Amino acid sequence: MERFFKRSDGVKLEILYPPFCEVCGNPIPDSFAETHPYCGVCKDSPDKYDPPFRVRAFGKYLFEDEYPDDRLSDEIRRMKLDRTIVPLLQECLYYAMDYQYPELQELDVVVPVMRGLRGRGYSPVALLAQGIASQYNLPYRDVLYAKEPYRPMHEIHDLAEKEREIAGKIGCNHQFEWDSILLIDDTCINMVTKRECTRVLKEHGAGEVWALVLGRMVDRRHLGVLRRYNG
Ligand SMILES: [Zn+2]
Repeated sequence: MERFFKRSDGVKLEILYPPFCEVCGNPIPDSFAETHPYCGVCKDSPDKYDPPFRVRAFGKYLFEDEYPDDRLSDEIRRMKLDRTIVPLLQECLYYAMDYQYPELQELDVVVPVMRGLRGRGYSPVALLAQGIASQYNLPYRDVLYAKEPYRPMHEIHDLAEKEREIAGKIGCNHQFEWDSILLIDDTCINMVTKRECTRVLKEHGAGEVWALVLGRMVDRRHLGVLRRYNG
């Protein structure tokens, strides 16, 4: 199994290679995959066989204070301010669609995760999603929006509080007809935002929802667990 992608600028990036959790895309120990393809969190979830959405990622997103030198994570952070990096990160998503998760090419509609309340400015996620839509000849719909302000998720540490903070604050201005959705975002940190996006999309007629992100957050503790199991 290939573990690196060599980009057109010559940079070699580690991809998120199997085994990973069927639901949330988090890497799991090799031995888990033989019995059940779920992470420690998702394996106890009652809807793991039919989850509201699934996450797939090109690579891992590592926190700056834990791994300041991780190239992909650093580029994902830079992209928020610097649009010159977008085409390079776009290549990473194309690689994910072509080689890691080609089944995502079969989905019906590409939707970017909503931008902030301020609206129409520079949105790297919207650029990434537009790129995916044109590369794979899929319709693009920028339909999610913030109805009310909510605090940035990274400023809240308690998971239940994150859920309360974002609940009911995302809107969707399109009615789908059971279309399956490819939801694009830069990272997946804790699933809270994407769970709320999914709830709203389904309320508006969406069928199955798959999220594709550049970086799935994996913290130092989890990397330690992987190392211990895999030896
Ligand atoms: Zn999981």
